[in-house]
Amino acid sequence: MNPSEFDHLLSERLAQFHQHNLLRKLRQIDGPQAIHIQIDGKPRLNFSSNDYLGLANDPALKSQAANAVALYGAGSGSSRLICGSLSVHHELETALAQFKQTEAALTFSAGYAAALGAITALVGKGDVIVIDRLAHACIVDAARLSGARLLVYPHNDMDRLEQILRRLDRGAQKPSPASRARILIATESVFSMDGDLAPLRDLADLKDRYGAWLMVDEAHATGLYGPNRRGLIEDQKVSDRIEVQMGTLSKAIGSSGGFICGSRLLIDCLINRARTFIFSTAPCPASAAAAIAALQVIASPEGAHRLDHLRRLAGRFSEGMAKIGDATARSSPPATRLDPPFRAIHPWILGEESAALQMSTRLDQAGFLVPAIRFPAVAKGAARLRITFTSNHTFEEVESLLKALDPSQTT
Ligand SMILES: *Cc1c(COP(=O)(O)O)cnc(C)c1O
Repeated sequence: MNPSEFDHLLSERLAQFHQHNLLRKLRQIDGPQAIHIQIDGKPRLNFSSNDYLGLANDPALKSQAANAVALYGAGSGSSRLICGSLSVHHELETALAQFKQTEAALTFSAGYAAALGAITALVGKGDVIVIDRLAHACIVDAARLSGARLLVYPHNDMDRLEQILRRLDRGAQKPSPASRARILIATESVFSMDGDLAPLRDLADLKDRYGAWLMVDEAHATGLYGPNRRGLIEDQKVSDRIEVQMGTLSKAIGSSGGFICGSRLLIDCLINRARTFIFSTAPCPASAAAAIAALQVIASPEGAHRLDHLRRLAGRFSEGMAKIGDATARSSPPATRLDPPFRAIHPWILGEESAALQMSTRLDQAGFLVPAIRFPAVAKGAARLRITFTSNHTFEEVESLLKALDPSQTT
């Protein structure tokens, strides 16, 4: 294919995205990730960040990151198994295991890489992976890559999940335990685009009953749920029942990277089998050090204070939205059994991609950054605004957003 044909094909594809209201563009932010940001020289109030506890630009994280650069340099040099296993990575893993109360932890360059590495290391051809319909792309992609048979249950629908497990159980050819197909169930604990919760106790009961393994992605729960802010697994008291705990260092933890927590045996297997760990350079020292600092903040009274403020802000917003016309009522599928104690993620489902884009543009003109979330992040026709709160927002800012969202206040 000559270069002009290539260009032609690409521009046709882009034109199609545009036609279907699915074209994305990057918005350049001048300055750090924060609540008040500048886009194209114009100020915006940011209601779309996953920096839930306002740690990404926190002085404690920044100074630890700078220290790590001074101590270990800018780069890690190689894969951990070659010569990149710096002590800062080991310190972070000790801190993570302690925070999540597991025997061990392993870090990856991203949450995405953690899911890809762990799932493909645990299941393969002849095995089965069963996932929630709304599970994150990294779980879906990992499942496909693993070669295991991929089965999907409707969002949070435990009856359907049990049906699937029962059928698999009956289909099993009474083999020796060693040759039996392994079944891995994978879900998010707090769903990234809806902000609702998975029934982890029910999931743990089911996986025990049918001899499956359970992997829980706590990307949007770590730092936000549980008496010690360890995640929804802590909140629902199932810490000792989940084989694979996954998370990211990039959301409430305010840095970057991903992790798996679990037994020492699990981690040793991943060190030997997870390809995104083995064939990828160790995360940079600065991000590991920033994550260690973040875990300290989260575990401290300061962390409790930040979360408390976030909960109250989010509560105020839910109250305000209930008056405007309840967005969460439409966003929570009927099968959801657990109402979150609070929502840091608040979806306003608008359906049509064009409707979400229009609303997002209107908010943008009013000085708010709330992007339209569209396919493939959510299903076609389930486009939405995804409003997120962080502990750096103020009550006044929440009121101003409510006002901007209220159709009775606009002309
Ligand atoms: C963001 C996210 C990830 C990926 O984490 P990164 O560190 O950003 O790669 C995985 N799972 C869920 C549910 C997420 O929202």
